[in-house]
Amino acid sequence: MKLVTTPEDATGPRSGVRGLVPTMGFLHEGHLSLVEAARSDCDVVVMSLFVNPLQFDRPEDLDRYPRDLDRDASLAEEAGVDVLFAPPLEVMYPSDPLTTVTVREIAEHFEGVFRPGHFDGVATVVAKLFAALGPDRSYFGRKDHQQLILVRRMATDLSFPGEVVGCPIVREPDGLALSSRNIFLGDRSRAVTLSRGLMAAADAIDDGERDAGRLRRLVEGVLDVDEVDYVALASQSHAAPLDHLDRPAFLAVAAHVGDLRLIDNLPVDLLGEMFVPDRGRRLSEPSSLARP
Ligand code: AMP
Repeated sequence: MKLVTTPEDATGPRSGVRGLVPTMGFLHEGHLSLVEAARSDCDVVVMSLFVNPLQFDRPEDLDRYPRDLDRDASLAEEAGVDVLFAPPLEVMYPSDPLTTVTVREIAEHFEGVFRPGHFDGVATVVAKLFAALGPDRSYFGRKDHQQLILVRRMATDLSFPGEVVGCPIVREPDGLALSSRNIFLGDRSRAVTLSRGLMAAADAIDDGERDAGRLRRLVEGVLDVDEVDYVALASQSHAAPLDHLDRPAFLAVAAHVGDLRLIDNLPVDLLGEMFVPDRGRRLSEPSSLARP
């Protein structure tokens, strides 16, 4: 694996289908599942690792975001990454950008409401990565479903030619969705109620429930958290709130446990005439983040 800090070194002379896995590092099995998907479709896998200040709405969250380049480099290499692109701040932003990318509508709901400016930061940095690295395919987790939808739309609107691929959510054996921030989690037993609520909703959808209000109340009935930001059913096309499950959707939840804000969701796909909840992929052993 080559560790590089500039786009020129990341693109190099290699030929074939180029896959990109954008991350903010402190890797876990969720990130590595994206690498696995990229490995199986692409000739060259580039992972970017950049904690993007533009997408943090709270400076204290940026300051305490976990970082460990040595650990990330060895996990990325083991997973089969060919090029790890870890640019310093001055390479990504030589000066404060005067140009940013806004994806209207999609960015106006849910995470966009609770994290002002967050999605402009995401859309801007992903557009820069696409422009600088020119991937044929790029891989994003359904863990951040609204982000996935937003990136896909940004790529279409700005004529980036590559395909944006969405990958299933990787979960701990108890259902908790993996996230780098989980290392700060004090109270797992309460955090796990997000996924437990979503799984109860998945069972209800399998049994024919289509009413968004009843699905929402089902999740809320299971949650044991300090504060709920939202529980909502949204469309996969625009992340717009839905009253009924009548198109591809995701049931999203954001809540606070202690001083950590957690997000999770249940994508619901339409396969033929059937609504099929995507419960994600459960690890058989606790992830590297959950082990002491
Ligand atoms: P991050 O480093 O948190 O910005 O995440 C980088 C990419 O990994 C994003 O596309 C995330 O959606 C994806 N990702 C993070 N956690 C998971 C997970 N538990 N399962 C699948 N993908 C994930």
